[in-house]
Amino acid sequence: MSLIRLYNLNVSLEDEFDRALKREAAKRLGVEPASVRLIKRGVDARERTPRFNCTADVELPETADRERLLRDLGSNAAVPEPTPPLTATPGAEPLKGRVVVVGSGPAGGFAAYVLALNGYSPLLIERGKPALERLRQIGRWNAGVVELDPESNALFGEGGAGSFSDGKLYTSSRRDALTPRILETFVECGAPERILTDAAPHVGTDILSRVVVKMREKIEALGGEFRFDAKLTDVVVGDGRISAITVNDSETIDVASVVLAPGHSARDTYEMLLNRGVALEGKPFQLGVRIEHAQELIDKAQLGRYARDKRLAPASYDIACQAAGGLYSFCMCPGGITMAAVSEPGCLNTNGMSFSPRSSGYANSALVTTFEPADFGLKPLDGVEFQRRYERAAFKAGGGGYATPAQPVTHYLRGLHSPRKMRGTYARGREYASLAELLPEKLNKALRANLPEFDKRIRGFVSDSGILHAIEARASSPVRIPRNPETRESTNVAGLYPAGEGAGYAGGIMSAALDGIRSALAIVTKYNQG
Ligand SMILES: Cc1cc2nc3c(=O)[nH]c(=O)nc-3n(C[C@H](O)[C@H](O)[C@H](O)COP(=O)(O)OP(=O)(O)OC[C@H]3O[C@@H](n4cnc5c(N)ncnc54)[C@H](O)[C@@H]3O)c2cc1C
Repeated sequence: MSLIRLYNLNVSLEDEFDRALKREAAKRLGVEPASVRLIKRGVDARERTPRFNCTADVELPETADRERLLRDLGSNAAVPEPTPPLTATPGAEPLKGRVVVVGSGPAGGFAAYVLALNGYSPLLIERGKPALERLRQIGRWNAGVVELDPESNALFGEGGAGSFSDGKLYTSSRRDALTPRILETFVECGAPERILTDAAPHVGTDILSRVVVKMREKIEALGGEFRFDAKLTDVVVGDGRISAITVNDSETIDVASVVLAPGHSARDTYEMLLNRGVALEGKPFQLGVRIEHAQELIDKAQLGRYARDKRLAPASYDIACQAAGGLYSFCMCPGGITMAAVSEPGCLNTNGMSFSPRSSGYANSALVTTFEPADFGLKPLDGVEFQRRYERAAFKAGGGGYATPAQPVTHYLRGLHSPRKMRGTYARGREYASLAELLPEKLNKALRANLPEFDKRIRGFVSDSGILHAIEARASSPVRIPRNPETRESTNVAGLYPAGEGAGYAGGIMSAALDGIRSALAIVTKYNQG
């Protein structure tokens, strides 16, 4: 059987999909294919008439000359590469002790899964609560019924920041050959099969919070162990190697290796690591505001007369403009909800999430610019302090009860102070505020210089219905825990494997999961269980 992968096959929304895909493949190849398997399907809305843009694997008839076709079709065809497995041949060094994973976000969760699959029976410690308990807790906090739990909230708890997210399962960075394995694992744990072929797969918080529970059960069935309400509070380092960890300031556990995946909001963990001499460095990060519009406005701008077409998902956008240090949209949530993603009392940070139907009727995204160590200081945790300063100011400007300071984007740009009621999805309420007084000047300059261009790309983006919320301070990690690119261990502590977003090597669910997998495979290929 001879297979060829075809890219950029365009199929009209009006056609019967399977038949039209086969017809397009035949047209491209000049021969009738023996079979066609859809690999990816996205919607190309750049033209007046949106259409499906597809990648497919095609089985060629025996008479076809694959080499000639590959030459003729250039970048529109390739030989499909097999997806590598999540298992690997164990290394030679005997493993003397337990492998511990810190954090159950996408990085820690997938690291634990791969370790368990390979027979390394990891212990995973997670400071927060199991997913369903956490879900109830967040609901009650949003309703103002309970106080913020600094150990278990929208950022901490089973599934990490990933399980209370918008659930977009794609990354703009280079595609990794292991990506399909992550999506397959999600499907095995209850996510819908369509995510395997959607070009921009999305599941939503409702599905993700069930998937992470199933994934935990899978890991436990493979010999792994989970402990919740279990915070890493100390590390024992001797002769440049980690030998033990402390949990909840009370229990010491001897370790052979630790995958450290605490996410970028574990500020106390960063401080502890720094105090113990683990190498940490500040890095550039993004900070901004979150804007919310009616979804209808975005659909009209992006899809024109197809705006209400049921075959199409609510429209999204992805905009980057370069004036005044640059401004770009980030974590756009069509049909989503604007929310407080908070782990520290007295600090306010916005984000966006959605449920699988994406049916809130609103669209939100962060508008961020990049801050460099030159903007906030050169010490490893200066970026954290900078975030905290603006989060505290936002908390105060919102009235001190986790309402968000907000302002119509038109008022912001005109320097108007004209308080009014604002509609939207943010559960803890909005307080009208003059955001220019609250935001760092670098961000103000970037917003003023680039928002008019955003309005040219999405008609109505700058209108009274666009509401800015402050502040989006945790779009990416302000800290890196540097590691050896080959061994993936900390540059000064052997046996410590920093992974995921908090280590400064990922941003988003898929890249964090990939990073965790790669670190787990580094342990497997180095050590032997005996
Ligand atoms: C509201 C929101 C929406 C988002 N939407 C998307 C999206 O749609 N798509 C996307 O790709 N990305 C999204 N993201 C980003 C994505 O969630 C993160 O990039 C990703 O979760 C990072 O994975 P991680 O495993 O590195 O860290 P995290 O997911 O942050 O997980 C870290 C875990 O470690 C635990 N932990 C921390 N310190 C300790 C300690 N000392 N001891 C024990 N446990 C500890 C935490 O409780 C947490 O569970 C969103 C983030 C948020 C907050």
